[in-house]
Parts: sequence; C-alpha cells; structure tokens
Amino acid sequence: MDEALEQTLEQHRLKDVTRFSPEHITILMQASGLGEEALALALLPLAQQKAQVPVSDFVVGAIAVGGSGHWYLGANMEIAAQPLSCTLHAEQSAIGHAALFDERYIEKIIVSANPCGHCRQFMHELNQDRLMLVLPQDHFMLSELLPHAFGPADLQQSYGMLNGPAGNLVAADNAQVNNHDALMFAALDEANASYAPYSHNRAGVALQLSDGQLCLGRYLENAAFNPGLSPMQLALSQLFLHGYQPKDITRAFIVEARAKVQQTGNAEQLLASLCSIPLEKAQFGEVNVKSEE
Ligand SMILES: [Zn+2]
Repeated sequence: MDEALEQTLEQHRLKDVTRFSPEHITILMQASGLGEEALALALLPLAQQKAQVPVSDFVVGAIAVGGSGHWYLGANMEIAAQPLSCTLHAEQSAIGHAALFDERYIEKIIVSANPCGHCRQFMHELNQDRLMLVLPQDHFMLSELLPHAFGPADLQQSYGMLNGPAGNLVAADNAQVNNHDALMFAALDEANASYAPYSHNRAGVALQLSDGQLCLGRYLENAAFNPGLSPMQLALSQLFLHGYQPKDITRAFIVEARAKVQQTGNAEQLLASLCSIPLEKAQFGEVNVKSEE
C-alpha cells in the first residue's frame, strides 16, 4: 500500500476499519488527494490482508460501495480440508458484509482481480440495472461482463438479493420461545433478513466470540443455485475480516426455516473443520411464505 495513505490511515486510526463511513472517505480523499475510485483501489491491499488462502495463496480484496455511501471490505476465504465449493470469493464477502448492514443497493464493486464467472452470476442476483465493476486497469458494467444472463427476472422475481421482503420465521413450539437466548435471537434476526426466494430456506448464523462480540451470517441465495452464499460461510468470513480466529468462537447457533433444502449439515461440517465448538440449532416454520411471491 502507498506509504502516505498508510500513514493517513494510522493517523486517523482507520487501519483496522473494515467498513468506511462517508466521513472516513472524505478524510482519506482530502489527505491523499485521490479521487474516489483511485482511493478505493489504493485501499484494496487492506482488504487483501484479510484473505484466508490455505489452498491457493492467491489473495483477492474487494470493496462494495453501498447506496448509503459506506464502503465494505471483503476478501476471499478458503477452508483447508474441505471441498473447493466451500470457498467464498472477495466480491461475495464484500456484498455479504454490506448485506449485514442492511444496504439495499450496491453502486460499485472495486476488486483486485478480474471477477470470475461465479462472482458475475452472484452479483447479477442484486437484480440491479446498473452495477459498475472497477478493476485496477479498467472498469465495466456487470451487464457487459455477463450478457444474456440468467437471473431473478427469469424466475419472475422482481426484487434482488438485498432488497427483498423480510421473513416471518416463528418458533415452532413454546420451548423455543421461552428460551430467551440472545444468540438464538441474533441468528433468527439474520434468518429473517436472509434471501431465499427460490427455496424458502431462510437461514441465519450467529457466532459468539470470547470477547463478547458476535459474528453474523445470513443466507444469500442465487437463481442459479450454486453461487449462493451460505450463512456459515458469511459468518466465518466476518470472523476473519474482523481479525478473529476460529479459536475465538465460544458458541455457534444456526436458525433455519423448514424447506426442501437445509443448511445445518453443511454448516456443522464447515464449523467442525475449524474448531470443536458444537453447532446449536433451531428450525422454524415460516408463515405466509406464499405472500412473498
Ligand atoms: Zn469470484
């Protein structure tokens, strides 16, 4: 990273920030003399430092520019001793990060390497007419990189990954309601904020950390199915993004809706590959599923 920019980040105590506010961005633009896109590109090494790449050693950083003006860092995450399909890409990490702050719209994605086909498909699920991709040497509209795309519109769905209706998961029995467990409710909130219009398998994960912080994840489904992001993948990418390690997890909870597909088995496997904390779980019925359509 540029030395002057590094000093500015240090001076304003922004070196460990993973979500830049509009105020942060103004400070950094003024101090560096860089324009918005040039600054975002210059900050990519910060995101790349968060990558977990035990398989490839290939670090990718991304920044999602939200409609609110906030910038969300993302990095690729690979899990050793698991199938490559468990990999989360930097663009997914950044968009998932923005989703957790309830961004409804993404203006641009800045990314350190050419976006792969998997990510182009994932980003198409935003269902936005215009999404700009900024690369170190060039920029494109997503529609230029993914012509004749298959997506939500092909399945008669009007909204996208970040602006769908909230869920209405309700506890199946009184035992679940009476157990006022903050971690379960955090996972339930994520499940209700998740995006699963095709399977209705709303799902959320909450990880409790030893310092009291939570790492959260929500399911972000895809019309093409495979590029979807599981709630455990997103929660684990948040863990690494914020500088934690799997040993910092003290509890883990998943909440999901009963549906034809399920997240829990895969989430258990992923968690078990990184630590020995058991995955606590609750399954909920969803009311008024049909009214979403
Ligand atoms: Zn990718």
